[in-house]
Amino acid sequence: MKKTLEWVLPPEVAYDDIRFEQEVRNQLRLTPDTPAFIRKIRRSIDARSRQIKVNLAADVYINEPVPPLLSFEKSYTDVSKKDQAVIVGFGPAGMFAALRLIEMGIKPIVLERGKDARNRRRDLAAITKDHVVNPDSNYCFGEGGAGTYSDGKLYTRSKKRGDVRRILEILVAHGATSEILVDAHPHIGTNKLPQVVTAIRESILEAGGEIRFDTKVTDFILKDGEMRGVITHQGEKIEGLGVILATGHSARDIFELLHTRNILIEAKPFAMGVRVEHQQQFIDSVQYHCAVRGNYLPAASYSLVAQARYKGVEKGVFSFCMCPGGYIVPAATAPGEIVVNGMSPSRRDGQFANSGMVVSVDEADWKPYEKLGPLAGLQIQKVLEQTAFQLAGQTQTAPAQRLQDYVNGKISSSLLPTSYQPGLVSVDMTTILPPSIAVRLREGLKVFGKQMKGYLTNEAQMVGVESRTSSPVRIPRDKETLEHPQIKRLFPCGEGAGYAGGIVSAAMDGERCAEQLVAHYQNK
Ligand code: FAD
Repeated sequence: MKKTLEWVLPPEVAYDDIRFEQEVRNQLRLTPDTPAFIRKIRRSIDARSRQIKVNLAADVYINEPVPPLLSFEKSYTDVSKKDQAVIVGFGPAGMFAALRLIEMGIKPIVLERGKDARNRRRDLAAITKDHVVNPDSNYCFGEGGAGTYSDGKLYTRSKKRGDVRRILEILVAHGATSEILVDAHPHIGTNKLPQVVTAIRESILEAGGEIRFDTKVTDFILKDGEMRGVITHQGEKIEGLGVILATGHSARDIFELLHTRNILIEAKPFAMGVRVEHQQQFIDSVQYHCAVRGNYLPAASYSLVAQARYKGVEKGVFSFCMCPGGYIVPAATAPGEIVVNGMSPSRRDGQFANSGMVVSVDEADWKPYEKLGPLAGLQIQKVLEQTAFQLAGQTQTAPAQRLQDYVNGKISSSLLPTSYQPGLVSVDMTTILPPSIAVRLREGLKVFGKQMKGYLTNEAQMVGVESRTSSPVRIPRDKETLEHPQIKRLFPCGEGAGYAGGIVSAAMDGERCAEQLVAHYQNK
């Protein structure tokens, strides 16, 4: 017999497997020796009232064979002798495009400018300790892309739940915890992501796919309106059935290359601002209505949004990529700039809570850079990041200001302890942020102080600058075939092309591009 049941439980039962099993057995009046297998299928926290509850659903199999957890089966056939397609970039989009090509009988050749996950670690340490940024190996570039040393939150606004489930199952089949199939807000954590990414690489290599690290694409092979292949920085020409361009939102040289080769790209709205850091205990106490979170509840997160005016124009100020129990990391991709982002370990047990706090940037903001055409947004990002670098002392030490000081227009006389390892320096953030962001941020913070009592405090600080929230450029493509409108066999893919915003949506887009590339080839 199989029963699907739903419960509303206190956290100490919902998160403790032994007590939860007892609860199930009591409810179903099962004797201790009745064979029963419990598989949780959904779990979410309801923190609206003082009494925190966990909504939990599970399938219970009583005296019944248990079906496999995954409908996805990890079995990739050998494609080493098959036709090949080129994938540029080995982030989530590139990785999932490669796996899908293999499933469809095509050999992927993946070109990645960065290093494999393990060797990449040394370059991350160099950013933190020596303030040296390697333009090909950093928090955005290298095996697994921006997704490897990230927070590993896996939720997406996509309505295609079946496709989302498939991506999560592939991650589980490559070593991610099966809890991600259950939680409403699944999360892997930066300490676990490299193993998953490495396992995906192994699947690709075992199936006869090719992955070349330390291989930067610097030009395209274009002929008769078709993308025949690419040229690497070593001058090697690599051709294939098509090119999936999955280079992420920080591959500025790729946007510039597209533009100089007269391949249509468009400026696209994005968002910029700062990262705000509080004590995690404060966020827990507000969200869970208690002084201390207790052992069972995960570190609490928040999501805030407000409308704020500048020169009569209203725009959203919103929290972005909140990392409970996490760290602020130096995510620059070139020397001479400061960029911050956030990540957290799987246990989310760090002392601090950080979140991007950003304002949308659109056409009105890039007017001064109009002559740069589709690269105008890129220039806005660069100016902000380089100004932050200059004003914070020309290292990876980041500019910071306490929240209340910022709102009161006062330079902070001292800063708080932080998770940002290269260190902070007190700066008037309005000298870095353009007024259209600075003014709205100030208004937004005042609103957030009311929405979440205590949020606007001098016991929290902002760290600059959060500038890489999404791509400032869109590479257009046909809605159905996913090919570039001018260049056949070019498939703009993932976050950098403007079709994804996060790990799962980038992975889903990678799969779609692989499918369309194969369809193009089969229809010929
Ligand atoms: P990317 O991951 O950016 O991958 C692009 C790859 O292309 C890179 O590896 C790059 O080296 C390579 N490349 C670029 N140019 C070239 C070239 N010329 N030749 C060869 N290779 C090239 N998202 C979430 O969903 N949840 C999170 O919790 C989360 N946390 C994040 C934390 C941090 C610190 C960062 C930086 C990002 C985070 N993100 C998170 C965002 C997420 O990582 C991205 O949305 C996702 O990785 C985009 O996938 P992608 O494959 O499109 O591009």
